[in-house]
Amino acid sequence: MIPLKSEKDLVMLRESGRILAKVLRQLCEYVRPGISTAQIDNLAEQLISETKGKAAFKGYKGFPASVCTSVNEEIVHGIPGPRVLLEGDILSLDLGINYQGYFSDAAVTVPVGRVDFRSSKLIEVTRKSLSEGIRRAKADNHLSDISHAIQGYVEARGFSVVRQFVGHGIGVSLHEEPEIPNFGAPHKGVVLKNGMVLAIEPMVNAGGWESKISDNSWTALTKDGLRSAHFEHTVAIIPGGPEILTA
Ligand code: MG
Repeated sequence: MIPLKSEKDLVMLRESGRILAKVLRQLCEYVRPGISTAQIDNLAEQLISETKGKAAFKGYKGFPASVCTSVNEEIVHGIPGPRVLLEGDILSLDLGINYQGYFSDAAVTVPVGRVDFRSSKLIEVTRKSLSEGIRRAKADNHLSDISHAIQGYVEARGFSVVRQFVGHGIGVSLHEEPEIPNFGAPHKGVVLKNGMVLAIEPMVNAGGWESKISDNSWTALTKDGLRSAHFEHTVAIIPGGPEILTA
């Protein structure tokens, strides 16, 4: 069963998403060569403490930080720490906010200083693949229309989509039904309805789609060591089409 949100729920989720977007934007502006990923997490803690929201990831299944910081070949679930960002790195920031029991989730990949052409292309294609997916998030489409649009956009540009991790429903918990793969045939799965809220999140690899889990048992890495990018928005399906709650 995929829970449908009421108008009152959507009011709360919009506020959750608004808080998230503001914090994430400030984190992106802070990213530069020479800072550590722990410093980014510290700033996230401070910024979130100035809002009415809470960090949704901290403590989730034991995750130790407020924001996921995934560098270069790290796909998702990077743990902030002493690693210092270098000019030319790419950094994925993934943040979840719990506002009075209403959850939002978003991610963005940013260049650290100047990056090579292929890295900036990877970032751009991943960002646009999210837009392609979101466009399909409307009532009467099938869930896999989102998946198929993302995969098609990415693979036509010579990159690959991660299989091991998927998007998800969201709302009164961080992860709800359904799972939203970033690959698959169109016109399959559940029919989308107004009131569904989805966290759509393409993870795109510069090389092959295969991934593995690092020794810290959290962080997903590309198997071939090439770079990966990640963009995510929390999207409500409402009459008239998708509404991005974390824009
Ligand atoms: Mg997510």
